[in-house]
Amino acid sequence: MSAPAPKVYGWCPGALRPMMSGDGLVVRIRAPLGRLSSDQAQAVADLSQSYGNGLLDVSARAHLQMRGVREEDHPALITALQRLGLVDTDPAAESRRNVLVAPFWTHDDETYALAQQLSNALTAATDLSLPGKFGFAIDTGPSPVLRDTAADIRIERTTDCLILVADCAETGLPVTAATAVKEALSLAHWFLDQGGAPDGRGRMKTLIARRGPPSAHVAPRCTPAERPTLGPIATGQLVGLEFGQIPAASFADLTTHGALRLTPWRMLLVENATNLAPQPGLILDASDPRLRVSVCTGAPGCTQALSSTRQLARDLAPHVPAQSILHLSGCAKGCAHPASAPLTLTATAADTFNLIRNGKASDHPAQTHLSAAQLRASPDILTKGS
Ligand code: SF4
Repeated sequence: MSAPAPKVYGWCPGALRPMMSGDGLVVRIRAPLGRLSSDQAQAVADLSQSYGNGLLDVSARAHLQMRGVREEDHPALITALQRLGLVDTDPAAESRRNVLVAPFWTHDDETYALAQQLSNALTAATDLSLPGKFGFAIDTGPSPVLRDTAADIRIERTTDCLILVADCAETGLPVTAATAVKEALSLAHWFLDQGGAPDGRGRMKTLIARRGPPSAHVAPRCTPAERPTLGPIATGQLVGLEFGQIPAASFADLTTHGALRLTPWRMLLVENATNLAPQPGLILDASDPRLRVSVCTGAPGCTQALSSTRQLARDLAPHVPAQSILHLSGCAKGCAHPASAPLTLTATAADTFNLIRNGKASDHPAQTHLSAAQLRASPDILTKGS
Protein backbone atom coordinates (compact mmCIF):
# COMPACT_ATOMS: atom_id res chain seq x y z
CA MET A 1 0.00 0.00 0.00
CA SER A 2 1.44 3.43 -0.90
CA ALA A 3 1.77 6.21 1.68
CA PRO A 4 -1.12 8.74 1.77
CA ALA A 5 -0.55 11.96 -0.22
CA PRO A 6 0.37 14.85 2.12
CA LYS A 7 -2.06 17.73 2.45
CA VAL A 8 -1.01 21.12 1.04
CA TYR A 9 -2.40 24.02 3.11
CA GLY A 10 -1.21 26.91 0.89
CA TRP A 11 -0.57 29.24 3.83
CA CYS A 12 1.93 29.59 6.65
CA PRO A 13 0.96 29.91 10.29
CA GLY A 14 1.35 33.27 12.00
CA ALA A 15 0.92 34.37 15.58
CA LEU A 16 -2.63 35.64 15.08
CA ARG A 17 -3.52 32.77 12.75
CA PRO A 18 -1.78 29.72 14.25
CA MET A 19 -1.95 26.24 12.74
CA MET A 20 -3.04 23.18 14.69
CA SER A 21 -0.48 20.39 14.63
CA GLY A 22 0.06 17.05 16.35
CA ASP A 23 1.43 18.63 19.52
CA GLY A 24 -0.81 21.72 19.78
CA LEU A 25 -0.82 25.08 18.03
CA VAL A 26 2.14 26.25 15.94
CA VAL A 27 2.57 29.98 16.59
CA ARG A 28 4.96 31.77 14.25
CA ILE A 29 6.28 35.22 15.12
CA ARG A 30 7.29 37.59 12.32
CA ALA A 31 9.69 39.76 14.30
CA PRO A 32 10.05 43.22 12.71
CA LEU A 33 13.21 43.19 10.55
CA GLY A 34 13.89 39.68 11.83
CA ARG A 35 15.37 41.06 15.04
CA LEU A 36 14.53 40.66 18.72
CA SER A 37 16.08 42.94 21.30
CA SER A 38 17.61 41.18 24.30
CA ASP A 39 14.50 41.94 26.37
CA GLN A 40 12.12 40.71 23.66
CA ALA A 41 14.11 37.51 23.14
CA GLN A 42 14.31 36.80 26.87
CA ALA A 43 10.54 37.31 27.17
CA VAL A 44 9.84 35.03 24.18
CA ALA A 45 12.02 32.33 25.76
CA ASP A 46 9.95 32.64 28.96
CA LEU A 47 6.69 32.48 26.95
CA SER A 48 7.90 29.36 25.17
CA GLN A 49 8.42 27.69 28.53
CA SER A 50 5.09 28.92 29.94
CA TYR A 51 2.85 28.28 26.94
CA GLY A 52 4.80 26.14 24.47
CA ASN A 53 6.98 23.05 24.60
CA GLY A 54 10.12 24.94 25.67
CA LEU A 55 11.70 24.77 22.23
CA LEU A 56 11.97 27.51 19.60
CA ASP A 57 12.35 26.92 15.86
CA VAL A 58 13.72 29.33 13.29
CA SER A 59 11.92 28.72 10.00
CA ALA A 60 13.33 28.81 6.48
CA ARG A 61 11.82 32.31 6.23
CA ALA A 62 13.51 33.52 9.39
CA HIS A 63 10.35 33.43 11.47
CA LEU A 64 10.48 32.34 15.10
CA GLN A 65 8.15 29.49 15.92
CA MET A 66 6.68 28.13 19.13
CA ARG A 67 5.05 24.71 19.14
CA GLY A 68 2.83 22.85 21.55
CA VAL A 69 0.67 25.86 22.50
CA ARG A 70 -2.74 24.90 23.92
CA GLU A 71 -5.73 26.57 22.28
CA GLU A 72 -6.94 27.96 25.59
CA ASP A 73 -3.54 29.62 26.18
CA HIS A 74 -3.37 31.31 22.77
CA PRO A 75 -5.17 34.57 23.80
CA ALA A 76 -2.85 35.11 26.77
CA LEU A 77 0.18 34.39 24.59
CA ILE A 78 -0.99 36.94 22.00
CA THR A 79 -1.56 39.57 24.69
CA ALA A 80 2.01 39.02 25.90
CA LEU A 81 3.42 39.19 22.35
CA GLN A 82 1.43 42.38 21.69
CA ARG A 83 3.04 43.99 24.74
CA LEU A 84 6.41 43.07 23.25
CA GLY A 85 5.53 44.66 19.88
CA LEU A 86 5.89 41.33 18.08
CA VAL A 87 2.45 40.91 16.50
CA ASP A 88 0.52 42.78 13.84
CA THR A 89 -2.76 44.62 14.14
CA ASP A 90 -4.79 41.84 12.48
CA PRO A 91 -4.27 38.47 10.73
CA ALA A 92 -4.51 39.98 7.22
CA ALA A 93 -1.76 42.51 7.97
CA GLU A 94 0.33 39.75 9.52
CA SER A 95 -0.04 37.65 6.38
CA ARG A 96 0.87 40.54 4.04
CA ARG A 97 3.91 41.65 6.07
CA ASN A 98 5.99 38.72 4.90
CA VAL A 99 9.33 40.47 4.57
CA LEU A 100 12.62 38.61 4.77
CA VAL A 101 15.58 40.87 5.49
CA ALA A 102 19.23 39.95 4.85
CA PRO A 103 20.46 39.93 8.45
CA PHE A 104 23.71 41.85 8.03
CA TRP A 105 22.15 45.33 8.01
CA THR A 106 23.22 48.24 10.18
CA HIS A 107 20.89 50.85 11.63
CA ASP A 108 22.00 53.53 9.16
CA ASP A 109 21.99 51.54 5.92
CA GLU A 110 19.57 51.16 3.00
CA THR A 111 18.52 47.62 3.91
CA TYR A 112 17.25 48.78 7.29
CA ALA A 113 15.40 51.78 5.85
CA LEU A 114 13.83 49.80 3.00
CA ALA A 115 12.75 46.96 5.29
CA GLN A 116 10.98 49.41 7.58
CA GLN A 117 9.31 51.23 4.68
CA LEU A 118 8.17 48.02 3.02
CA SER A 119 6.85 46.52 6.27
CA ASN A 120 4.84 49.69 6.96
CA ALA A 121 3.55 49.84 3.38
CA LEU A 122 2.41 46.21 3.43
CA THR A 123 0.69 46.65 6.77
CA ALA A 124 -1.23 49.61 5.32
CA ALA A 125 -2.00 47.94 1.93
CA THR A 126 -5.46 46.65 2.79
CA ASP A 127 -6.33 46.48 -0.94
CA LEU A 128 -3.60 43.88 -1.56
CA SER A 129 -4.80 40.31 -1.21
CA LEU A 130 -1.78 38.08 -1.85
CA PRO A 131 -1.49 34.30 -1.55
CA GLY A 132 -0.65 33.07 1.96
CA LYS A 133 2.93 32.11 1.10
CA PHE A 134 3.74 35.18 -1.02
CA GLY A 135 6.76 37.02 0.36
CA PHE A 136 9.28 39.82 -0.17
CA ALA A 137 13.06 39.85 0.33
CA ILE A 138 15.22 42.88 1.05
CA ASP A 139 18.67 41.76 0.02
CA THR A 140 20.55 44.99 -0.59
CA GLY A 141 23.97 44.24 0.88
CA PRO A 142 27.04 44.30 -1.42
CA SER A 143 26.02 40.90 -2.94
CA PRO A 144 22.70 39.06 -2.60
CA VAL A 145 22.65 36.38 0.14
CA LEU A 146 18.98 35.36 -0.04
CA ARG A 147 18.77 33.89 -3.56
CA ASP A 148 18.33 30.35 -2.18
CA THR A 149 15.50 31.46 0.09
CA ALA A 150 11.89 31.54 -1.07
CA ALA A 151 10.62 35.05 -1.89
CA ASP A 152 8.40 36.32 -4.69
CA ILE A 153 9.57 39.90 -4.97
CA ARG A 154 13.14 40.88 -4.24
CA ILE A 155 14.98 44.15 -3.83
CA GLU A 156 18.67 43.59 -4.55
CA ARG A 157 21.68 45.64 -5.60
CA THR A 158 23.59 45.60 -8.87
CA THR A 159 27.02 47.15 -9.27
CA ASP A 160 25.56 50.66 -9.61
CA CYS A 161 21.94 50.74 -8.37
CA LEU A 162 19.11 49.03 -6.53
CA ILE A 163 17.05 46.61 -8.58
CA LEU A 164 13.55 45.19 -8.16
CA VAL A 165 13.26 41.57 -9.27
CA ALA A 166 10.37 39.17 -9.78
CA ASP A 167 11.49 35.81 -8.41
CA CYS A 168 13.42 33.66 -10.91
CA ALA A 169 13.57 36.42 -13.53
CA GLU A 170 17.07 37.05 -14.90
CA THR A 171 16.56 40.82 -15.12
CA GLY A 172 14.89 43.46 -12.96
CA LEU A 173 13.77 47.07 -12.76
CA PRO A 174 16.34 49.70 -11.67
CA VAL A 175 14.92 51.58 -8.66
CA THR A 176 16.10 54.08 -6.07
CA ALA A 177 15.72 54.06 -2.32
CA ALA A 178 12.81 56.48 -2.84
CA THR A 179 10.95 54.37 -5.44
CA ALA A 180 11.78 50.77 -4.45
CA VAL A 181 8.87 50.17 -2.07
CA LYS A 182 6.26 51.78 -4.34
CA GLU A 183 7.50 49.69 -7.27
CA ALA A 184 7.51 46.52 -5.14
CA LEU A 185 3.83 47.02 -4.36
CA SER A 186 3.13 47.75 -8.03
CA LEU A 187 4.83 44.47 -8.95
CA ALA A 188 2.64 42.64 -6.43
CA HIS A 189 -0.45 44.14 -8.10
CA TRP A 190 0.97 43.19 -11.54
CA PHE A 191 1.31 39.59 -10.29
CA LEU A 192 -2.38 39.54 -9.35
CA ASP A 193 -3.49 41.33 -12.55
CA GLN A 194 -1.60 38.80 -14.66
CA GLY A 195 -3.53 35.93 -13.07
CA GLY A 196 -0.65 34.81 -10.83
CA ALA A 197 -2.95 33.65 -8.07
CA PRO A 198 -5.94 31.81 -9.49
CA ASP A 199 -8.11 30.63 -6.58
CA GLY A 200 -5.96 32.72 -4.22
CA ARG A 201 -2.88 30.52 -4.59
CA GLY A 202 0.21 30.92 -6.75
CA ARG A 203 3.84 31.98 -6.75
CA MET A 204 5.73 34.57 -8.76
CA LYS A 205 8.22 32.06 -10.17
CA THR A 206 5.38 30.11 -11.81
CA LEU A 207 4.05 33.26 -13.45
CA ILE A 208 7.54 34.32 -14.60
CA ALA A 209 8.17 30.88 -16.10
CA ARG A 210 4.91 31.29 -18.03
CA ARG A 211 5.16 34.86 -19.34
CA GLY A 212 8.50 36.38 -18.28
CA PRO A 213 8.97 39.59 -16.25
CA PRO A 214 7.36 42.98 -17.09
CA SER A 215 8.90 44.61 -20.17
CA ALA A 216 10.61 47.39 -18.15
CA HIS A 217 12.61 44.80 -16.19
CA VAL A 218 15.78 44.90 -18.30
CA ALA A 219 18.65 45.40 -15.83
CA PRO A 220 20.77 42.28 -15.25
CA ARG A 221 21.13 40.89 -11.72
CA CYS A 222 24.52 40.45 -10.10
CA THR A 223 26.15 37.23 -8.91
CA PRO A 224 25.04 36.09 -5.45
CA ALA A 225 27.43 35.70 -2.52
CA GLU A 226 28.41 32.35 -1.05
CA ARG A 227 26.17 31.14 1.74
CA PRO A 228 27.44 32.60 5.06
CA THR A 229 29.24 30.28 7.46
CA LEU A 230 29.31 30.13 11.23
CA GLY A 231 31.63 32.33 13.23
CA PRO A 232 32.36 35.97 14.05
CA ILE A 233 31.31 38.69 11.58
CA ALA A 234 31.30 42.49 11.76
CA THR A 235 28.00 42.75 13.66
CA GLY A 236 28.36 39.74 15.97
CA GLN A 237 28.59 35.96 15.75
CA LEU A 238 26.66 33.56 13.53
CA VAL A 239 25.68 30.38 15.38
CA GLY A 240 23.91 27.30 14.05
CA LEU A 241 20.84 25.64 15.54
CA GLU A 242 20.53 21.86 15.54
CA PHE A 243 17.98 21.22 12.78
CA GLY A 244 16.76 24.79 13.17
CA GLN A 245 15.65 24.32 16.77
CA ILE A 246 16.96 25.58 20.11
CA PRO A 247 15.86 25.03 23.72
CA ALA A 248 14.32 28.18 25.17
CA ALA A 249 16.93 28.17 27.96
CA SER A 250 19.79 28.31 25.42
CA PHE A 251 17.96 31.05 23.50
CA ALA A 252 17.62 33.04 26.73
CA ASP A 253 21.30 32.61 27.48
CA LEU A 254 22.24 34.13 24.12
CA THR A 255 20.34 37.30 25.00
CA THR A 256 22.94 38.13 27.66
CA HIS A 257 25.32 38.99 24.78
CA GLY A 258 23.01 41.15 22.68
CA ALA A 259 19.99 41.29 20.41
CA LEU A 260 19.25 38.28 18.20
CA ARG A 261 18.69 38.36 14.46
CA LEU A 262 16.88 35.52 12.74
CA THR A 263 18.25 34.10 9.50
CA PRO A 264 16.78 31.69 6.93
CA TRP A 265 19.82 29.37 7.26
CA ARG A 266 19.04 27.68 10.58
CA MET A 267 21.38 30.21 12.18
CA LEU A 268 21.07 33.13 14.57
CA LEU A 269 23.18 36.24 14.46
CA VAL A 270 23.98 37.21 18.04
CA GLU A 271 24.79 40.91 17.97
CA ASN A 272 28.08 41.91 19.61
CA ALA A 273 29.05 38.31 20.46
CA THR A 274 32.49 37.05 19.47
CA ASN A 275 33.20 33.84 21.36
CA LEU A 276 30.02 32.15 22.54
CA ALA A 277 30.18 29.17 24.87
CA PRO A 278 28.58 25.82 23.92
CA GLN A 279 24.91 25.43 24.81
CA PRO A 280 22.43 22.61 24.17
CA GLY A 281 21.08 22.91 20.63
CA LEU A 282 23.76 25.38 19.55
CA ILE A 283 26.29 24.61 16.81
CA LEU A 284 29.48 26.67 16.88
CA ASP A 285 31.69 24.63 14.54
CA ALA A 286 31.16 25.11 10.81
CA SER A 287 32.21 21.50 10.19
CA ASP A 288 29.56 20.01 12.51
CA PRO A 289 27.89 17.18 10.52
CA ARG A 290 24.41 18.17 11.73
CA LEU A 291 24.70 21.19 9.42
CA ARG A 292 24.59 18.74 6.50
CA VAL A 293 21.15 17.41 7.50
CA SER A 294 17.74 18.98 6.91
CA VAL A 295 14.96 17.34 8.87
CA CYS A 296 11.33 18.24 9.44
CA THR A 297 9.33 18.01 12.67
CA GLY A 298 8.11 14.47 11.95
CA ALA A 299 5.94 12.50 14.39
CA PRO A 300 4.44 13.17 16.82
CA GLY A 301 4.59 16.95 16.25
CA CYS A 302 3.23 16.90 12.70
CA THR A 303 -0.13 15.27 12.06
CA GLN A 304 0.93 14.28 8.54
CA ALA A 305 4.15 12.56 9.60
CA LEU A 306 4.40 8.84 9.00
CA SER A 307 7.43 8.47 11.28
CA SER A 308 9.55 10.27 13.81
CA THR A 309 12.59 11.86 12.19
CA ARG A 310 14.88 13.85 14.47
CA GLN A 311 16.71 11.15 16.41
CA LEU A 312 17.43 9.26 13.20
CA ALA A 313 18.75 12.51 11.69
CA ARG A 314 21.06 12.92 14.70
CA ASP A 315 22.28 9.33 14.37
CA LEU A 316 22.89 9.50 10.62
CA ALA A 317 24.49 12.97 10.50
CA PRO A 318 28.09 11.76 11.12
CA HIS A 319 27.75 9.42 8.13
CA VAL A 320 26.77 12.08 5.60
CA PRO A 321 29.78 12.85 3.37
CA ALA A 322 31.32 16.29 3.83
CA GLN A 323 30.12 17.74 0.52
CA SER A 324 26.66 16.14 0.62
CA ILE A 325 23.27 16.89 2.17
CA LEU A 326 20.81 14.48 3.72
CA HIS A 327 17.16 15.47 3.79
CA LEU A 328 15.10 13.38 6.19
CA SER A 329 11.39 13.87 5.69
CA GLY A 330 8.42 12.60 7.69
CA CYS A 331 6.32 12.40 4.53
CA ALA A 332 6.52 13.11 0.81
CA LYS A 333 5.74 16.82 1.28
CA GLY A 334 9.38 17.57 2.04
CA CYS A 335 8.84 20.75 4.09
CA ALA A 336 12.41 20.92 5.44
CA HIS A 337 14.04 20.92 1.99
CA PRO A 338 11.58 21.51 -0.86
CA ALA A 339 14.39 21.44 -3.46
CA SER A 340 16.34 18.44 -4.68
CA ALA A 341 18.98 17.01 -2.33
CA PRO A 342 21.80 14.51 -2.98
CA LEU A 343 20.28 12.13 -0.39
CA THR A 344 16.68 12.07 0.82
CA LEU A 345 14.99 9.64 3.19
CA THR A 346 11.21 9.89 3.01
CA ALA A 347 9.09 8.09 5.60
CA THR A 348 6.49 5.73 4.19
CA ALA A 349 5.47 4.21 7.55
CA ALA A 350 6.68 4.28 11.15
CA ASP A 351 10.50 3.94 11.11
CA THR A 352 10.39 2.96 7.43
CA PHE A 353 11.91 5.07 4.66
CA ASN A 354 12.48 5.32 0.94
CA LEU A 355 15.90 6.51 -0.21
CA ILE A 356 15.91 9.01 -3.08
CA ARG A 357 19.16 10.07 -4.73
CA ASN A 358 19.43 13.55 -6.26
CA GLY A 359 15.76 14.25 -5.93
CA LYS A 360 12.93 15.59 -3.79
CA ALA A 361 11.07 13.80 -1.01
CA SER A 362 8.28 12.88 -3.43
CA ASP A 363 10.55 11.61 -6.23
CA HIS A 364 11.05 8.04 -7.39
CA PRO A 365 13.13 6.11 -4.81
CA ALA A 366 16.35 4.23 -5.48
CA GLN A 367 15.58 1.96 -2.50
CA THR A 368 12.40 1.29 -0.55
CA HIS A 369 11.38 -0.20 2.81
CA LEU A 370 14.57 0.75 4.64
CA SER A 371 14.00 0.46 8.37
CA ALA A 372 15.47 2.98 10.81
CA ALA A 373 17.29 0.11 12.53
CA GLN A 374 18.79 -0.99 9.22
CA LEU A 375 19.95 2.56 8.46
CA ARG A 376 21.51 2.92 11.91
CA ALA A 377 23.26 -0.43 11.64
CA SER A 378 24.50 0.15 8.08
CA PRO A 379 24.58 3.91 7.40
CA ASP A 380 26.74 3.24 4.32
CA ILE A 381 23.44 2.34 2.64
CA LEU A 382 23.15 6.09 2.09
CA THR A 383 26.22 6.31 -0.11
CA LYS A 384 26.64 2.78 -1.47
CA GLY A 385 25.99 2.69 -5.20
CA SER A 386 25.61 6.48 -5.47
S1 SF4 B 1 7.35 16.96 5.51
FE1 SF4 B 1 7.44 16.69 7.70
S2 SF4 B 1 6.65 18.57 8.60
FE2 SF4 B 1 6.06 18.55 6.42
S3 SF4 B 1 3.99 17.67 6.44
FE3 SF4 B 1 5.44 15.97 6.10
S4 SF4 B 1 5.89 15.15 8.13
FE4 SF4 B 1 4.94 17.16 8.40
